[in-house]
Amino acid sequence: MTRSEMKCKCCGGNSFVEAMDFINLRPINKKMSYGTERVYTVCMDCGEVVSIKVKNPEMLRK
Ligand SMILES: [Zn+2]
Repeated sequence: MTRSEMKCKCCGGNSFVEAMDFINLRPINKKMSYGTERVYTVCMDCGEVVSIKVKNPEMLRK
């Protein structure tokens, strides 16, 4: 899905911003692992989070 095809399921808007938080997501059984940042895609019109991705999914696999 390309960015231009994305549509907010809440308001139908199509302007989005990507935001990150600083709390890493870690594998549940490896609390010492570094983990990976989450990237949120947020609708600029209503604030709906349309997608949450992790930056480095391979970090959860190890
Ligand atoms: Zn929206």
